[in-house]
Amino acid sequence: MNDTQVLIAGAGPTGMVLALWLARAGVRVRIVDPRMAAGEASRAVAVHARTLELYDQLGLAQAVVAGGVQIDHLAVRANGIERARLAIGGGGEGISPFPFVLAYPQDDHERLLEKALLAAGVAIERGTQVVGLDQTATSVNVRLDSASGSERVDVNYLCGCDGAGSRVRHALGLEFAGGTYDQTFYVADAMVEGTAADQGVSVCLNAEGFCLVLPVRRTGAYRLIGVVQDSQGRGEHFTFDQVRDEVEQTTGLKVKEVNWFSTYRSHHRMATSFASGRVYLAGDAAHIHSPAGGQGMNTGIGDAINLGWKLASVLHRRADASILATYATERMGFARELLKSTDRAFRLIASDGSMGRLWRTRLLPHVLPAVAAFKGAPRLAFRVVSQVRIAYRDSALSTGRAGKLRGGDRLPWLPVGEADNFAPLTSRDWQLHVYGEPGPGVRRLAYNTGLPLHGYVHAAQARAAGIPAGTVCLVRPDGYIAMLRGDQEEAGLVDMANYIARFAIVASPQSVRIGES
Ligand SMILES: Cc1cc2nc3c(=O)[nH]c(=O)nc-3n(C[C@H](O)[C@H](O)[C@H](O)COP(=O)(O)OP(=O)(O)OC[C@H]3O[C@@H](n4cnc5c(N)ncnc54)[C@H](O)[C@@H]3O)c2cc1C
Repeated sequence: MNDTQVLIAGAGPTGMVLALWLARAGVRVRIVDPRMAAGEASRAVAVHARTLELYDQLGLAQAVVAGGVQIDHLAVRANGIERARLAIGGGGEGISPFPFVLAYPQDDHERLLEKALLAAGVAIERGTQVVGLDQTATSVNVRLDSASGSERVDVNYLCGCDGAGSRVRHALGLEFAGGTYDQTFYVADAMVEGTAADQGVSVCLNAEGFCLVLPVRRTGAYRLIGVVQDSQGRGEHFTFDQVRDEVEQTTGLKVKEVNWFSTYRSHHRMATSFASGRVYLAGDAAHIHSPAGGQGMNTGIGDAINLGWKLASVLHRRADASILATYATERMGFARELLKSTDRAFRLIASDGSMGRLWRTRLLPHVLPAVAAFKGAPRLAFRVVSQVRIAYRDSALSTGRAGKLRGGDRLPWLPVGEADNFAPLTSRDWQLHVYGEPGPGVRRLAYNTGLPLHGYVHAAQARAAGIPAGTVCLVRPDGYIAMLRGDQEEAGLVDMANYIARFAIVASPQSVRIGES
């Protein structure tokens, strides 16, 4: 038996969320990072609804929402004049308990995660990095370097959450296939004055490029992102003053004070596999994409939770080890789609050349007002960016269908008065849900398997979500439906019992049986 069951390389958002999930599940975990403190840069700003739903399972969502700014609209400005405004504030009403896009800077976010980790009994080992690994069928031998010397440690699993330049990925010999965009971006956090400085995201366009403006902190600071033009120069000592005129002209803002400024190149790359033996890759170590839609960090956090519950279940012998293979298939499927969609969005808005210019100056300012006038646009926008549409229908863990729902779908959120069907997900364990009256067969299944059974009246929300009355769902620890049946016929329930047996799913000791709560 290894003292450390899981070693995590990298204490960015991905590594910290993975460590937190594992620590809360009682897994012996270590997390190392060469950085001596949490990141100082605000990099990722957008925190999407699906991330907040997953954070709610960990008891983190309230603090994140309280520390952030809710974005209430998306505006398009051409040459300083507002051309279209899409109210996205409540776009996810009825879809998610977090029906908005939240701006919460990555430095604050990382500090909050580090504090939560400490409270869970895990201190990040700073000044320490993974420098090599060897693995056998039963364990991974990892070489760590720190100021006090080298250490070799045997662990059951190693997780490479060590960012785009991942040493773990290199050690596995996995290719990071893709490319780098030609453009260099600037990014600034600044105090500004002007009409574009409000509670929304402003996409400010001109012939040469664009500047994105959005609130970044409750202190009133704004994030400015755009493309550096060739005429503005390059080099190590590039400063905000080299883009100031362009920013002020494109946005109509007056920039009073710059708190942070940086330039960066953007990539679109994905590892050829997210797993090799007992070693897993997650977050930027596994995939990086253009910042369009603010998806990178959110996707890393999604990876962490998908991997976290599977590792914890297998280590505690509460699921068959074969479920670990579904981490790579589920998350690679989503990462592949995301790379395509963010690449399309990026090329649309940032490409130079005559097509890009035509799109920014003529097409977008005319197309977007028409889109914004469409009544369903805020909901559509929410569904596109919030990650609530992520589903694992092709996974080996997904089976069955009922009404509009299929195995692998995110459990639809159904608010009923003060209560809702996401509340029991805080147990972070397998569970049965019934929408309608649970019959004796389902009660027996719950009793025999020890899985908690949660019954909900089949109200209007369930009908609207396309769930037939009497539907039984077997729900995974991360809130996705593993298996479902639209009725409580004996044959379907036997299939469900067989599924539970096939994947050796065992309820955790704290699971409460029906009638005992
Ligand atoms: C300007 C900008 C804006 C962005 N905006 C958004 C946004 O709005 N929304 C969004 O979702 N994403 C956004 N992103 C992307 C987001 O910042 C990243 O996707 C996110 O930081 C990835 O987190 P991570 O934990 O996977 O990797 P990282 O944050 O890169 O963390 C990796 C960690 O691994 C450590 N490490 C490195 N080597 C080793 C080693 N050998 N051993 C141990 N540890 C090691 C590093 O020190 C680091 O702390 C943005 C990125 C940029 C640059």
